Amino acid sequence: MESNQISSMSKASRCEANEPMPSESQSAYLGLGSNLNDREACLYRAVTMLSNAGARCVKASSIYESEPFGYSDQPAFLNAVIKVKTFLSVQALLITVKEVERRMGRISGPRWGPRLIDIDILLYDDVTLATEELTVPHPGLRHRVFVLLPLHEIAPRVNIDKDLSVEKALESLDTSQGIKKYASWRYGDVR
Ligand code: AMP
Repeated sequence: MESNQISSMSKASRCEANEPMPSESQSAYLGLGSNLNDREACLYRAVTMLSNAGARCVKASSIYESEPFGYSDQPAFLNAVIKVKTFLSVQALLITVKEVERRMGRISGPRWGPRLIDIDILLYDDVTLATEELTVPHPGLRHRVFVLLPLHEIAPRVNIDKDLSVEKALESLDTSQGIKKYASWRYGDVR
């Protein structure tokens, strides 16, 4: 039942975005975070829902536990990065991501506040885009250890900006504080 609902959601997303579908499958990297309820289960549930909506996970990092960012009076986050293959345009992918967050029960709260699930589009193919709704590469990417460390595990040499690889971006950051490996990824068929 849920997968039917999600697949019609993804068709609607494509229409609403009013963008042509890419003719080839594109690669995108998504950052996932959760700090409420069963955090690990929330990450895995998001991956299932994304796959059912047309963004199929093909690679996943380990799961990291990190101290809350921005708003410190809240539980620690679990973070991971996944690579997805998708025919959704980047705009349709954003709509899909927001819909998955909504369906998982995320409610509006303070910026950087507690959440069941947060999904960010970190990179989408080699697209660079800055609109009111969507900035790609994600604007926080180069400063956030909790995103760069897991991204480095699965794509160390990918560029997050002109001539700036993940590897290089991490060199200037302190990776010893506030973050530790929590678990290996134990879900789905990821290579
Ligand atoms: P967040 O609180 O992290 O879920 O993000 C809030 C808003 O950021 C979303 O409603 C998006 O419209 C916007 N946004 C801008 N760029 C991105 C991106 N690369 N990935 C996800 N959301 C984005």
